[in-house]
Amino acid sequence: MTSANDDLKALVRTIPDFPKPGIQFRDLTTLLLDAGGFRATIERLVDSVETKVDLVAAIDARGFAIGGAMAEKMGAGLLLIRKDGKLPGATIAEDYALEYGTDRLAMHVDAIAAGSNVVLVDDLIATGGTARAAARLVARAGGHLVGARFIIDLPDLGGSAALRRVGVEAISLMEFP
Ligand code: AMP
Repeated sequence: MTSANDDLKALVRTIPDFPKPGIQFRDLTTLLLDAGGFRATIERLVDSVETKVDLVAAIDARGFAIGGAMAEKMGAGLLLIRKDGKLPGATIAEDYALEYGTDRLAMHVDAIAAGSNVVLVDDLIATGGTARAAARLVARAGGHLVGARFIIDLPDLGGSAALRRVGVEAISLMEFP
C-alpha cells in the first residue's frame, strides 16, 4: 500500500530529536492541516476496512481525530480509549510498557455491546504496546476486534508484526524506517 500513498507521506513532517535525542518524530499535524490530505487519509483508511463495523475504537489522543472522522463516514459509533483517570464512569484498564516505566489505558466497562465488531485506530504504531493494550481492553469488554488501522507504521520496531502474531489484521497507509 505504501507507494500508493506517497502523496500523503510527503505531507508528514519529520522532526529530529523529539521528544528526546535519537527519536525521529513523525509529525502528522502537517498532514491534518492539509484539507485534501486529511480527506484522502480518512477515505483510504475507511476503504481499507472491508468488514461492517459497529464501533471505531480510537486511542487517546491523535487517534481521536482520525477515528472520529472514520466513524462518521462508516456509520459506526466512536469508542474513546483514554489515558487512565479521564473517564467518569466505571472503567477497565490495561498497562503497557514504555521505554522507561509503564502507562495505562482505560475504557468504560459498558461501552461495547457483546459481540460488536470493532476496528482499532491510532495515528502511528511503533512497538505496538499501546495498540496491544487497547486490543486487550476491547476483548475484555466483549468486542470482536476485526482489525487495526494506522496512518504510519514503523515496522523496524515490530508493533504491526506483534499485532499480527496475536491474530489482529494490522494495516497502515505508509511506513517509515
Ligand atoms: P507504541 O506503543 O510504541 O506503538 O507507540 C505508539 C504511540 O506513540 C502512538 O500513539 C504515537 O503517537 C507515538 N509515537 C511513537 N513513536 C513515534 C514517532 N517516532 N513519531 C511520532 N509518534 C510516535
